[in-house]
Amino acid sequence: MQLYNSLTRKKEEFVPNEPGKVKMYTCGPTVYHFAHIGNLRTYIMEDVLEKYLRYIGYDVKRVMNITDVGHLTSDADEGEDKMVKGAKREHKTVMEIAQFYTDAFFADCEKLGIKTPDVVEPATNCIDEFIKVVEGLLEKGFAYVAGGNVYFDTSKLSQYYVFNNFEEDDLEVGVREGVEADDNKKNKNDFVLWFTKSKFEDQALKWDSPWGVGYPGWHIECSCISMKHLGETLDIHCGGIDNAFPHHTNEIAQSEAYFGHKWCNYWFHVLHLNTNSGKMSKSKGEFLTVSLLESKGYDPKAYRFFCLGSHYRKSLVFTYENLDNAAQAFEKLVARIAQLKNEGEVEEDKFNELKKLFTDALDNDINTSLAVTALYDVLKSDANDATKLALIEDFDKVLTLDLIGHAEALKNSAPTAPAADADLAAEVEKLIEERAAAKKAKNFAEADRIRNYLAEKGVTLVDSREGTTWKLGE
Ligand code: AMP
Ligand code: ZN
Repeated sequence: MQLYNSLTRKKEEFVPNEPGKVKMYTCGPTVYHFAHIGNLRTYIMEDVLEKYLRYIGYDVKRVMNITDVGHLTSDADEGEDKMVKGAKREHKTVMEIAQFYTDAFFADCEKLGIKTPDVVEPATNCIDEFIKVVEGLLEKGFAYVAGGNVYFDTSKLSQYYVFNNFEEDDLEVGVREGVEADDNKKNKNDFVLWFTKSKFEDQALKWDSPWGVGYPGWHIECSCISMKHLGETLDIHCGGIDNAFPHHTNEIAQSEAYFGHKWCNYWFHVLHLNTNSGKMSKSKGEFLTVSLLESKGYDPKAYRFFCLGSHYRKSLVFTYENLDNAAQAFEKLVARIAQLKNEGEVEEDKFNELKKLFTDALDNDINTSLAVTALYDVLKSDANDATKLALIEDFDKVLTLDLIGHAEALKNSAPTAPAADADLAAEVEKLIEERAAAKKAKNFAEADRIRNYLAEKGVTLVDSREGTTWKLGE
């Protein structure tokens, strides 16, 4: 499988450290607000990567952190903790909003078919690990204490900025307007490992440490949580492209300084979902959520389908028009699948030939739009229906669009059968009522007679707790 590696800036054959096993780490959400559909684009594409690795036989262990402390309003370690800001906004405690938005995040993930990683670890669970690594970095001379905080000394590295060939001057991490730069830093890109001093005295969660009562920096979280569950090496690290600098750059700096060897081989970055007015961002306050899309009548799987239609290394523009197009295409796809009949034996040769289109697409740097095209190729092919259904089910292990489930639901949603004319529909509805009355009167012979009579006309009755519906065909 070929995968683009942001570290080497080229597509490479993916080779894990240990044959057959993949250690994968994902930056999780900062739980001070709902995830927006941009964040979720990143998680959808990472989910496809994880599932495809499993699909081609790897034993994957995936770990994700939950950022519930230390992520400040500026990525340059300035400003207020985002969690404290969120708690104030909602007049709740930090832990209350952390729990609420963590649950909301996983509820959204479930709707979008995103699998929960094998390990999910909130940063506040790992304070001892953070302290141990910060102590180690101080001992090895990669960190210093200034003004009460512990900083990583980026000048100690031969190469700090690993993801791009930026000039020194371009490296300054964006310090937001109204936020003062930190004079304690020896080099402008040094970053905080442990805070004890902050201009914001109301930091809610603090822990004792060798440097005083304080809290961890954001970057140290991911290095330590990865180390705790995956050890000293990592095969793939994922995140949105905005994480590449400074977050991932700092993760590499501190992890490799601490271990004294290379840490992670492949970096998978997903480009942003943008609106016409720019990047979708949680901190802007106004953003689109899965619930909002649902309230407008969109199926969350139609949003997943929209995301799969473009490559993860291209930014994607969200407009309702674009989403409508994807939603309509998704509906049509489901309608075509609903027409397939599970008859006959799966034709093995055709199955393998068509499956290859799918694996070729995903083997080529997770080309999801070509993988979706492979679905249409299946439908257009001369394979029998059983083969087509088997392939669709197989591809959906990775695509997770619940195609068969949607097709079944469509078939069961009566009376939408296009071939049914109004007279037949009226007769069927009348007979369903008569049959219900017969059953109530325990006249089961009459109820069966009605069922059989309708079966002869090609109408199948489907009984459920909610009542009886009908469809044309079996
Ligand atoms: P956060 O909750 O802000 O820590 O971000 C969670 C994930 O979403 C990170 O991997 C970010 O890089 C990613 N992300 C943030 N904004 C966007 C966006 N507009 N489009 C895609 N991914 C994003
Ligand atoms: Zn991270």
